[in-house]
Amino acid sequence: MTVRENLEAIRQKIQKAAQQSHRAPETVNLVAVSKKQPAEKIREALDTGHRLFGENRVQEAQSRWKSLKPLYPDLKLHLIGPLQTNKAGDAVALFDMIETIDREKLALEISKEMKRQNRNLPCLIQVNTGDETQKAGIKPASLPGFIDFCRNDCNLDIRGLMCIPPVDDAPALHFAFLNKLAYENNLQELSMGMSADYERAIPLGATYIRIGAALFGKRP
Ligand SMILES: *Cc1c(COP(=O)(O)O)cnc(C)c1O
Repeated sequence: MTVRENLEAIRQKIQKAAQQSHRAPETVNLVAVSKKQPAEKIREALDTGHRLFGENRVQEAQSRWKSLKPLYPDLKLHLIGPLQTNKAGDAVALFDMIETIDREKLALEISKEMKRQNRNLPCLIQVNTGDETQKAGIKPASLPGFIDFCRNDCNLDIRGLMCIPPVDDAPALHFAFLNKLAYENNLQELSMGMSADYERAIPLGATYIRIGAALFGKRP
């Protein structure tokens, strides 16, 4: 299967899942996760007109996109992986949305960099919906206070929430939970669902689905 064919198949599944849940398909944005994928596959996706990509590491994203991005003025890049504070400046310079705001120190650093670079990127807060000790993300109980902190102390443009469900749980439970948290906190955007489970995330309100392997093939 080519990237073009995969993209078409995914689009059809998005459409079907959206229609079944009485949503407009265009409210579900496909973030093509290009991490670790060969350049020719990214090129193929760009050639179909796809313009929204996700990367999980700043350095890798820089080496791939720094020269490519200026060629596509409508290209949007989302950071979907953990961010170290010493990379905040590079991240703010390169990305168009940070999906993984997950602690106060990072929120402060991002805020400083946005001011310094005169950029105001929309952000999502990563929520640790499974309360897993090793996983990044804000604990659900701390979310309201963290949203206040991001907005009032850091001036961040918080648009919504993102999660990566625990591998052993039914993902739909976490998607429903994230949806509830967004509703309670009056947030519009929900980044949830990957190759294996995006069709279940759509009825539960996903506005961004992050798809790598199903689009580009298995990562080497
Ligand atoms: C790699 C990655 C994805 C994509 O995963 P696939 O299973 O290849 O679709 C989505 N979200 C995050 C945060 C990732 O790191």
